[in-house]
Amino acid sequence: MTSERTRERMIQRLIDQGIVNVQVLERMRQTPRHLFLDEALAHRAYEDTALPIGHGQTLSQPYIVARMTEILLMSGANLDRVLEIGTGSGYQTCVLAPFVKSLFSAERIRPLQEKARSRLRQLAIRNVQLKLADGTFGWPEKGPYNAILSAAAPNKIPYELKQQLAPDGVLIIPVGDVDQTLVKVVRIGDSDEFEETNIEPVKFVPLLAGVVR
Ligand code: SAH
Repeated sequence: MTSERTRERMIQRLIDQGIVNVQVLERMRQTPRHLFLDEALAHRAYEDTALPIGHGQTLSQPYIVARMTEILLMSGANLDRVLEIGTGSGYQTCVLAPFVKSLFSAERIRPLQEKARSRLRQLAIRNVQLKLADGTFGWPEKGPYNAILSAAAPNKIPYELKQQLAPDGVLIIPVGDVDQTLVKVVRIGDSDEFEETNIEPVKFVPLLAGVVR
């Protein structure tokens, strides 16, 4: 089930769903998604669906991981410093890492973070720093960031995340409760003004408060 053909079918589906960036498609092809799941679910890794990773959380659907990565690459933002909120399994982190110089990723549930850390180590991904924290407040010590990407949805875009954007920085974040929209926020130059664009309807887990140890 983790064969070349199964993976290739996932790539073909991504193309059918409108993913056009060749670098993103190639990275999705190379990334061993089955390693980000528990063994009992690994055979379903290349299906077009979100899958449980424990603690009520999910490994994001391949399409949305590809789409968020594509939006980031096509935004033209410099990708020296990028912050991810919601490490989860570490899959999106792994897909994103080669496109970024320094990747910072915050997760609020310690056991998920620990598993993600060991997977990223196993895959020799070395430009990622992980933090156990409520990412609602970003990671101010390491900012500002050229881009911030959230894998969990708040009801309202946290002010702190916008504040931690570098000049021309881009924030990609799902917003809403039952009806969610993927939103792109761009800081206008070095000003305190931001341009917001709604991208498409999405379904993410909620951005929750506090840390689980
Ligand atoms: N990209 C991840 C998605 C995991 S789901 C993957 O593909 O595996 C989203 C993750 O966001 C969950 O692990 C959840 O625990 C985490 N999360 C939710 N609210 C958070 C917050 N306030 N700070 C940090 N992480 C949060």
